[in-house]
Amino acid sequence: MNLSDPHVYIDGVLNRQRRMVSKTITLIESSLPAHQQMARKIIDCLLPRTGAAVRLGITGVPGVGKSTFIESLGINLVKDGHRVAVLAVDPSSTRSGGSVMADKTRMEKLSAEPNAFIRPSPSGGALGGVARKTRETMLICEAAGYDVIIVETVGVGQSESTVASMVDFFMVLMLAGAGDELQGIKKGILELADAIAITKADGDNVAKAQKAAGIYQNALHFLRPASPNWIPPVLTCSAVAQAGIEEIWQTVLRHRKQLADTGELDLKRRQQALNWMWSLIEEGLKNRFRQNPEVKKHLPKLTRAVEKGATAPTLAAEELLFFLDNQSLV
Ligand code: GDP
Repeated sequence: MNLSDPHVYIDGVLNRQRRMVSKTITLIESSLPAHQQMARKIIDCLLPRTGAAVRLGITGVPGVGKSTFIESLGINLVKDGHRVAVLAVDPSSTRSGGSVMADKTRMEKLSAEPNAFIRPSPSGGALGGVARKTRETMLICEAAGYDVIIVETVGVGQSESTVASMVDFFMVLMLAGAGDELQGIKKGILELADAIAITKADGDNVAKAQKAAGIYQNALHFLRPASPNWIPPVLTCSAVAQAGIEEIWQTVLRHRKQLADTGELDLKRRQQALNWMWSLIEEGLKNRFRQNPEVKKHLPKLTRAVEKGATAPTLAAEELLFFLDNQSLV
């Protein structure tokens, strides 16, 4: 097998060979220019074979029950004949061992299922880089016939809006608190949610979870819904008691039908494709900037000067950007 031939990867993915799916994702995650170039070729070829999956994003603080929930949902889906891929976006994994999600042994039962594919967060630079790799990985999984893609994230920086911008349905998992529900909520997160689910609604927690659901539902009433065709519901669930999981999946399907019927799903995906293009442009420009030899030469000196207050940030930025202009003229 010639691993420098992109068609080996393309055929492997289309033939649903797990090993080749993994190898292709490894290429996507590699920072070597030759790998990236090959990854681009592969994605280009596979792009027409993507787009059919249900793309579901899930967020929530560590401990809210994301992995347990995804495992339950995933196993139900696999039993129903779906093929499920679970991907993660965790920019904290790039900081020395600071990963919130990847360390623990996660979703053991789901990962043992032949029709499930679980890939931890790519580690690699800023959120932009992690997001690009996850987006491309999602496409590879779709081309490999996975029909439900779950993208999981923790609320690190902008990771929630980043994941929301690559999925069809974005769900926020919440814990029932001590009554003061809205206090701990991250600003802007309610606006992103297509549904909220209060987790661990079992045992003594059921009443508390229902109360919390009421409070969130009320809070959502005051927001203008992001879609004219969908009012985000608040649900409760328990992965342990296996309650509410099927309702959540039915909600995802109902949302999908609603948006597909009105043409909004198509519009949303087109918008996402444009956003994706722009984030690639931004990432590319930043890389080009940082790799520019003149920038490399002058950046440390100018950084120190701005830090000390000896040079104005405006002036330093202008001077550095000038090198980029000059390069493009060559
Ligand atoms: P994550 O950090 O968001 O992925 O959370 P985990 O899925 O690892 O769950 C955190 C803890 O909550 C674990 O100890 C789980 O056993 C527990 N947990 C998860 N789901 C439920 C649930 O539905 N009910 C109860 N009672 N505990 C749960």
